[in-house]
Order: sequence, then structure tokens, then C-alpha cells
Amino acid sequence: MPFIITDPCIDTKDTACVDVCPVDCIHPRKDEPEFASTRMLYIHPEECIDCGACVPACPVAAIYESADAVPSHQRDLVEANAVYRNGDASAMAKAEGIVKSHVDAHPDIMAVPAEERQAAHAKF
Ligand code: SF4
Ligand code: SF4
Repeated sequence: MPFIITDPCIDTKDTACVDVCPVDCIHPRKDEPEFASTRMLYIHPEECIDCGACVPACPVAAIYESADAVPSHQRDLVEANAVYRNGDASAMAKAEGIVKSHVDAHPDIMAVPAEERQAAHAKF
């Protein structure tokens, strides 16, 4: 089961996870043109080898080890990770649309600083 990136990554996007991923399955990278236009990064579900290296690298605890581990009100972002395909405009728009809906639906959570958001999620 692939790892999942969730909303503390939104607007954080420091790519620390990209630097440690051994199979380059997290996109977009900083050197890819898509980077400027996405609000967060996504893990390709079929390319992730479940090594776990990205989890401790993330400064805002945005990465979960499986869809089942993702808090219930973040489950929409499982689908965003699943559909995002770098360079595929339609797939990117679909993923970013899910992210936008998520942000719009959770103004309270999104007002919390990214580094404190995982703890805030745990209270729901
Ligand atoms: S679990 Fe491993 S392979 Fe999967 S995204 Fe993280 S670093 Fe990459
Ligand atoms: S390390 Fe965390 S915040 Fe940084 S890009 Fe990866 S998932 Fe996003």
C-alpha cells in the first residue's frame, strides 16, 4: 500500500521527501515545470516501494504510511495522490481540484500553521 502526502504539505512543499526517495516517485520535483503550479506534492501509488524514508524527512509530518492511516477528514487527499500524474494536465487539474475542495472545506484546520496541523487533525 503506497504512502500518502496530506495537507501539511500544502504551501510547505520543501521537497525534503523528494531528496530521500530512492525511486523518485514524489512529484513534482523543484526542477520540474509543474512545481510552481501545484499546492502540494503527490506520491505515485504504483511507483512507491513503501520504504518509509520520506516520513522522518518531512518537517511537518504530512506523510502517512497507508490510506488506512490517513485521518478520516484527510481521506480525500488519498485520491489526489492516486490521480496526480506529472505532466498530464487533466490528471494534475483533477488532483489540484481535490486539494482546493479540501482547503475550502477545512478553513479551521488550514488556518493552523503547517507544523502544528497533524496534531490539530488528531483532535477531530
Ligand atoms: S515510502 Fe519510500 S518509495 Fe514511497 S514515497 Fe516514501 S521514500 Fe518514496
Ligand atoms: S517533506 Fe513533507 S512538506 Fe516537504 S514536500 Fe515532502 S510531504 Fe511536502
